Amino acid sequence: MSLQLIADQKTGKERMPIVAIDGPAGAGKSTAARLLAYQLGFILIDTGALYRVLALTALQEDVALSDGPALASLARKLEISFGKLEFRESDPIPVLPVFCNGAEVTKDIRSPEIGMLASNVSKLPEVREALLQLQRDFGNTGGIVMEGRDIGTVIFPDAEIKFFLTASVESRAQRRWEELQAVGKSISLDQVIGETKARDEQDTNRTHAPLRKANDALLIDSTTIRLPDVVQQMAEIAREKINKK
Ligand code: C5P
Repeated sequence: MSLQLIADQKTGKERMPIVAIDGPAGAGKSTAARLLAYQLGFILIDTGALYRVLALTALQEDVALSDGPALASLARKLEISFGKLEFRESDPIPVLPVFCNGAEVTKDIRSPEIGMLASNVSKLPEVREALLQLQRDFGNTGGIVMEGRDIGTVIFPDAEIKFFLTASVESRAQRRWEELQAVGKSISLDQVIGETKARDEQDTNRTHAPLRKANDALLIDSTTIRLPDVVQQMAEIAREKINKK
């Protein structure tokens, strides 16, 4: 595959292409993004992890989760970074290591509670503003897969390749429930369905940067397609677009 530099529409500077993957919780975005980035040899930026790290640190530092200005100032102080995708233990999917102020928080940020708190803090305009430039800085060299809710609409509206990955609520909740079972969390499927609906409602109806498909994003519904097939489809489209540039 030949990866060619392209001129950024805003800055005119040459950079590698950007792949944006947006969609609701549990559609398989994270798995697809990790596999796709690994296959393309691109850097992966998981923007949900930024909101999760902020929620976790706010809890630890007793910052009120409704205090936008205080959260924004905490967000500006945090040193968040991502490691390289790496295979760990018997996990067949490469893991994206996440660090905050030098300490690894990869596992600590993955609980459903932190997911819901991340969704709460992400509603606040001050928080979104504080994390906007950070996300652009992470991505401005290109050669990245960036995963989130507003990548193709707000963070990188000029991304060359955009996917919107979705699936039915039931199948997304089932997938989350299986993941939680696998790590020994006892929770009913009904509860996970309820939490998935609550997070969808909050992410879709917020005023600032709500979850929505960019007009030029390709919609992929993973309800009945296996994730490896979703990734293959994404990789083919991405390679075709990258080679055409
Ligand atoms: O993708 P993940 O489940 O890790 O995201 C956690 C929460 O962070 C989401 O429910 C969403 O509210 C928020 N988020 C966001 N914008 C992004 C990524 C995540 O608002 N780009």
